[in-house]
Amino acid sequence: MAARVRALETILTQKGLVDAAAIDVIVDTYEHKIGPRNGARVVAKAWSDPAYADWLRKDATAAIASLGFTGRQGEHMQAAFNTPDTHNLVVCTLCSCYPWAVLGLPPVWYKAPPYRSRAVIDPRGVLAEFGLTLAAETKIRVWDSTAELRYLVVPERPAGTEGWSEEKLAGLVTRDSMIGTGLALAPEAA
Ligand code: FE
Repeated sequence: MAARVRALETILTQKGLVDAAAIDVIVDTYEHKIGPRNGARVVAKAWSDPAYADWLRKDATAAIASLGFTGRQGEHMQAAFNTPDTHNLVVCTLCSCYPWAVLGLPPVWYKAPPYRSRAVIDPRGVLAEFGLTLAAETKIRVWDSTAELRYLVVPERPAGTEGWSEEKLAGLVTRDSMIGTGLALAPEAA
């Protein structure tokens, strides 16, 4: 695969169709500058600021963009708030649509056929394999991403974090908790 990609890039560069330096900038941006820390800031702000949480619930695209997170694969966003009785899980059954602007590049398992099919057939079983066993009475709502609309799960704020700064709270928000395959970390994990 690596050799094929190199060959393709060489041909495209030789034909003048792409600029190798531009590709390097894009790869560097998504590998180093954009990642789940962005989404964690959104979640931490929603935990700290009820007005922001309300905005995020009503117009996630604008609320997220107000923090500077927008662009490729994040043009249209919806936030799914976990509650004590409902847990949200995000998948793209068709391919691998993912909110790059807030979570960076998708993990390999997110793109894999077993996750994509089983997340909708047996979400409770899939979550258990991620080490997340929910109470039997907790409902699981599965959101199927599309090229038009991407989802960000807002996990519940962990108990024992009263008075924490947004920055400190963001340290509890993992990538998986924003996909729904995990929960936010407990304060002692910070
Ligand atoms: Fe997709």
